[in-house]
Amino acid sequence: MSTSDLPLAKRPFGSTELRVSPLGLGTVKLGRNTGVKYPQPFEIPDDAAASDLIALAKSLGINLIDTAPAYGNSEQRLGTLLKGQRQDWVICSKVGEEFDAGKGSSHFDFSARHTRQSIERSLDRLNTDYLDIVLIHSDGHDEHILQHEGALAALQQCKQEGLVRAIGMSTKTVSGGLLAAELGDAVMATYNPAFEDEAPVLDYCARHGKAAILKKAFGSGHLINAQDPAHAAMQFALSHPGVTSAIVGTINPAHLRENVAACARAIADGC
Ligand code: NAP
Repeated sequence: MSTSDLPLAKRPFGSTELRVSPLGLGTVKLGRNTGVKYPQPFEIPDDAAASDLIALAKSLGINLIDTAPAYGNSEQRLGTLLKGQRQDWVICSKVGEEFDAGKGSSHFDFSARHTRQSIERSLDRLNTDYLDIVLIHSDGHDEHILQHEGALAALQQCKQEGLVRAIGMSTKTVSGGLLAAELGDAVMATYNPAFEDEAPVLDYCARHGKAAILKKAFGSGHLINAQDPAHAAMQFALSHPGVTSAIVGTINPAHLRENVAACARAIADGC
């Protein structure tokens, strides 16, 4: 059996009861192709291609899937695409950022009221009665949001009510990442060979049993080329002991297979 055939062993998601694969599937490209920073323009996959991609991810051992209201119609599509297999997936969504496709820009609302409405809308769109992970989708003012807006308290309330299993923030600063890790269950941080600034957040998560998931592990695709294949970025991501899972976005089945193989190889190498 080659490493690409090996299922990815699930890991504890911080101190929660969730267990996730060390590689997750990012779904920006299933819902939105404007206002994004990928190296190449792309067509959003149709339902058949998206369904095949998700089936492939599942068959290769991925159970963590990341979406957000700001990713175009990603949530709505997943609501249909994951029908009948809800229990097989750990779904991560977000609150706070709203993308207006007409204007090509985002606006943000971190109030308790909007947070509650956003979660109820995500439950509806995703066709489920619980969300596994919900992160505050920061605009960069991480600490201000956590300390002075209502989103965190609303998430805590939703968790108490059983609507959400784990909460946290997708952060943009080190100080905000540290505070989010202290106050929540999980942080989504950026960490790749070209951007190591947020390593202290991962260190904190490792020491305190908090989950850390990575966004942009491949630099949104800008770091992957013949000299720097997926394996190098995956090895880098998973070699940090604080990293629970790297969420990599792809709509290319060959890339997905390559990433799973790279992940399995990194783990076999001791990551
Ligand atoms: P990424 O995962 O670093 O890179 C994705 C890009 O890399 C895609 O354009 C993809 O193109 C390409 N790629 C993937 N595997 C490849 C391979 N094996 N060989 C060559 N190219 C490959 O960047 P990201 O999508 O920005 O971030 C990942 C996920 O994190 C997102 O989908 C989203 O779920 C989450 N995210 C969250 C935030 C936030 O603020 N919370 C921000 C950004 C991202 P192909 O489709 O052609 O494979």
